[in-house]
Amino acid sequence: MIEMVLCDLCKKRKAVIKIRYAGLNLCKECLSKFVEQKVMLSLKRTGVLGKLSGKYLIIALSGGKDSINATYIMHKLSQEYDFKMKAVFVDEGIGEYSKQRRAIVMDLCKKLGIEYRIVSMKEEMGISTPEAVNILVKSRNSIKPCSVCGVFRRYLLNKVALDENADYVVTGHNLDDEVQTFIMSLIRGDIRSIAREACSLGYENDVPKLVSRIKPLYLVYERESLVYFITHGFKRISLSCPYARFSMRYVIREMINDLEYRRPGMKYRILALKERLGKDIRETVLSSVEMRHCKICGMPSSRDICRACELKELLVKLSQNY
Ligand SMILES: [Zn+2]
Ligand SMILES: [Zn+2]
Repeated sequence: MIEMVLCDLCKKRKAVIKIRYAGLNLCKECLSKFVEQKVMLSLKRTGVLGKLSGKYLIIALSGGKDSINATYIMHKLSQEYDFKMKAVFVDEGIGEYSKQRRAIVMDLCKKLGIEYRIVSMKEEMGISTPEAVNILVKSRNSIKPCSVCGVFRRYLLNKVALDENADYVVTGHNLDDEVQTFIMSLIRGDIRSIAREACSLGYENDVPKLVSRIKPLYLVYERESLVYFITHGFKRISLSCPYARFSMRYVIREMINDLEYRRPGMKYRILALKERLGKDIRETVLSSVEMRHCKICGMPSSRDICRACELKELLVKLSQNY
């Protein structure tokens, strides 16, 4: 017989997760509180909690576990803290994968009574993710699918938020995502990105037309988010993105998970380093970067032409050459 492990906090119910860095076995209810306390902590720490009253939030809802958790938790907070929110789903046009996620998003929003808006990448950017991938493959370009898709999605979210006159954009990024992004910036030697990411620690950005971000799951490990998701009975899709395995993030993710396994709490320590470094270099690095507006679309950019417009032009050019 397998011995039942009891929750270390309530000492009553069966544990569903072992949190090694904290030395805690937690039951469903106590994990739920643990995750939601982390959300409150990051909202308080960034000072955003006190400013939410009367605000309008756009939430990026992709249909994945993290964005569903973030939507669910923010929706719970919306009454107590008196703010409005609308979910936005960016449809990348990745066949069944996008279709299933879209259905899940619509279903969740109806259940929770949240308004939603669906934005088609094809309609807005003139190209879907699979079309972009096709062009990149045919022309043997080294740009990865996730880079194009990521740039376009971020761009569209900001555009929709401006269009909706929203005060904040909420994303489902968890602690693992943050750590991976930091390591990827280190590998690329991208000091600007590290400084810019420091903005997500609650420095409101003062760039016109760039809507400030909120990341409720910033302190939540991916594993905790997954178990929260499962134990809340949310609907999961069976498909994962067909392009994810081409991403550098995939490699980094495995590497960091291995480090965490050997040294529990490693991810927290990397996150703390990221924050300290970001704070220290932020002023120096960012003061030398002049924020302007893209000559083509008018969106904020550190260059004459923003990355989204640059990619769009590149894809058109590449498609004409083969
Ligand atoms: Zn418990
Ligand atoms: Zn542009």
